[in-house]
Amino acid sequence: MITGTTQLLGVMGDPIAHSLSPVMHNAAITHLGLDYVYLPFAVAPQDLATAVSGFRAIGLRGFNVTIPHKQAILPWLNQISEVAQAIGAINTVSWTDQGWYGTNTDVAGFLAPLKGLDRDWSQTTAVILGHGGAARAVVAGCAQLGFAQIQVVGRNSEKLQAFQASWGKTGLIDRLTIGEWADLAELLPQTDLLVNTTPIGMHPQTQTSPLKAEDWQNLPTRAIAYDLIYTPRPTLFLQQADRQGLLTLDGLEMLVQQGAAALSLWLQQPAPVEVMRQALLAYLDRRGKGEEGKDEG
Ligand code: NAP
Repeated sequence: MITGTTQLLGVMGDPIAHSLSPVMHNAAITHLGLDYVYLPFAVAPQDLATAVSGFRAIGLRGFNVTIPHKQAILPWLNQISEVAQAIGAINTVSWTDQGWYGTNTDVAGFLAPLKGLDRDWSQTTAVILGHGGAARAVVAGCAQLGFAQIQVVGRNSEKLQAFQASWGKTGLIDRLTIGEWADLAELLPQTDLLVNTTPIGMHPQTQTSPLKAEDWQNLPTRAIAYDLIYTPRPTLFLQQADRQGLLTLDGLEMLVQQGAAALSLWLQQPAPVEVMRQALLAYLDRRGKGEEGKDEG
């Protein structure tokens, strides 16, 4: 029930109607019996500063940030976590005694299913397809896990070089190499973790995959295929990996875990991860297995 004491959380983006975050956060809040509500806020780029001041004025406790504000919000924050500085993007903001604190929970979200595998990654190689916003969290996550080599593959050499250079200050540069799509045949035999961070295969382009059918036989059987996409589940990429006998991970758990990490930061208590997961699954099921398309949380 919304009362005179209900506290506000939310997500800001443009557009925002597609966001799945209100579904999982409100399910968690209801489950915990808390006097909070989580709302979607459509904020156009030119209104960002006004929105952040307005959030302060109305006492919002915290909010998620999605496209197109993930980088633009940086100057409006009072403190930025180390992980968000490394990535250069914010997805979670919390009100503190020192003002707005921004961080990025996508790294924790990406890492959660990998940590569950309890492997030693120190002698291993991650190959990351794509170098957009999500790839930044994946690179930071792979660095945290201790991968010996992180290879980022893209289709545009200028963008790839800019991506590599952007990690210069993090000390990661000696482990981070870049390659083009044509280099994949050479990279795949050494791959322990293959991550798709491109939208190839996402609804409605469900019959596309970033890898050609014949590429799969070049991967070692120990390799893990991880697709950040969660609509559809599984993607063609993961179906192909599964047919090859590889371990597969999809993007739903990352979405749930980045949300759970944000909620526990705001509430200062553990988030009910299973409730959030089930709320999303039920919602996606009702919506015809994710016919809504792209969402960044
Ligand atoms: P983004 O910033 O637009 O980056 C997309 C990347 O994919 C870019 O490097 C782009 O290369 C590349 N790409 C796009 N189409 C391609 C194609 N046909 N061939 C080769 N490369 C292509 O997007 P993002 O925010 O990183 O999101 C990427 C995907 O991750 C989306 O499917 C999104 O839903 C998913 N995601 C999931 C979660 C989760 O919690 N599970 C979180 C974030 C994102 P160019 O720059 O050359 O175009």
